[in-house]
Amino acid sequence: MQANQKTQAVIFQTADIDDKIIIKEQKGAWQRTRRWLATVLMLVFIGTPFIYFQGEQAVLFDIGAQQLRLFSTVLYPQDLLVFFYLFVIAAFLLFYVSARYGRLWCGFMCPQTIWSLLFFWTQFRIEGNYQTQKKRLNGMLSAETIVVKSLKHVSWLGIALLTSITFMSYFTPVKALYVDLFSGKLTGLYWGWILFFMLATYINAGWVKEKMCEHMCPYSRFQSAMISEDTKVVSYIAQRGEPRAPRKINQEQPALLGDCVDCNLCVQVCPVGIDIRKGFQYQCISCGLCIDACNQVMKRFNYPQGLIKNHAEKESSHVRTIAYVGVVAIFIVLFAIWFASRPLFEVSVIKDRNVLFREAIDGRIENIYQFKILNKTPKSVAFNLAIQNNEQLEIISAPVIELAGFESQIVMVNVRAPIDFDSQFTPVTFELTAKDSLITVDSMFHHR
Ligand code: SF4
Ligand code: SF4
Repeated sequence: MQANQKTQAVIFQTADIDDKIIIKEQKGAWQRTRRWLATVLMLVFIGTPFIYFQGEQAVLFDIGAQQLRLFSTVLYPQDLLVFFYLFVIAAFLLFYVSARYGRLWCGFMCPQTIWSLLFFWTQFRIEGNYQTQKKRLNGMLSAETIVVKSLKHVSWLGIALLTSITFMSYFTPVKALYVDLFSGKLTGLYWGWILFFMLATYINAGWVKEKMCEHMCPYSRFQSAMISEDTKVVSYIAQRGEPRAPRKINQEQPALLGDCVDCNLCVQVCPVGIDIRKGFQYQCISCGLCIDACNQVMKRFNYPQGLIKNHAEKESSHVRTIAYVGVVAIFIVLFAIWFASRPLFEVSVIKDRNVLFREAIDGRIENIYQFKILNKTPKSVAFNLAIQNNEQLEIISAPVIELAGFESQIVMVNVRAPIDFDSQFTPVTFELTAKDSLITVDSMFHHR
């Protein structure tokens, strides 16, 4: 009897107190999956900058050098098309997942959700469980409350600082970053960025939390447009649950009542503070915590599980699946073709604009060209420089240009023509030949 009263007391609580959502910590299959996935993704996020490939940081967005390094591939601003392809592929994959499985991305993989989960976890460890937090919220401000709350915020700031430093190590060589950090040599600019990302993380995951998903995230808005009858969404089976009413655990199920015991647990555990029994709501991030909570209650009452479940009203349409998969496959093929055929060397030439031509020491006419050459491959390369189809024009500077892997060079090239060269300006084509490559660039030779 005492145990029953305790259960009743636990089950009649509200989750929303003065508009402040206090979430009840929930165990279960969905929560376990979320935590495991969050841990794996977090480890990937922390560990990736420490992966080295051929002696270099494998993943680095080097803003100073305008390079994006991904293992043996280095992308430059000229290769920005890569982002178009990746964005389209990611967008269609996300559309497909949303149309088929609802907001699984939001509930399980979105960084906002993962960091909020981590912050909630920290809060539970420091502030105590749901009941303790509720009492503290309703009670007078005490010294203990101040200490506990301060500890929580210091911990949140600590997590936010580590997040920010890790994030920065994707944009600056990780070894240099940590050496400068621990030797106190980090510049004010770096500290400014670290502080900025730290505060952004702290405010987002500690204060804004679910409001980001509800009011700021564009994905949550267009999400509703993608959901149809064949989308799996978390929903309450009203035909089975209604009419709802509280009852005792060992009591025989009242004939006129449905299976919902109106315990409110599904609301208490919801990170966005909604009541799924009111029907599908755009705030729902498909985290499944209400499923875990309700299954736990059903088990206690010895009722079948699945009063709240993740399901679709009808079978998925194969046409839609084929359409999404088709678009993704087409863009993957286009991306592969573009990637395989993208130029591995960039060469540009501009003429010295100050002196269009001049008389050289040997009496001939000289033009000076500035070559900018970029080697996008990890291997060194030696280019032979020549002029195409013009016997009269002669390259005076060194005919071989050597570049190390991923090196960019600016090279000045002097070209001379005989004094009786009979054209005011002549188109000239330079040829750069390496082992497997031939690159041509056009310019002009000026005489008078
Ligand atoms: S209603 Fe359920 S699935 Fe949706 S956000 Fe709340 S707890 Fe998660
Ligand atoms: S749906 Fe389940 S968890 Fe929610 S109030 Fe009813 S019995 Fe409780």
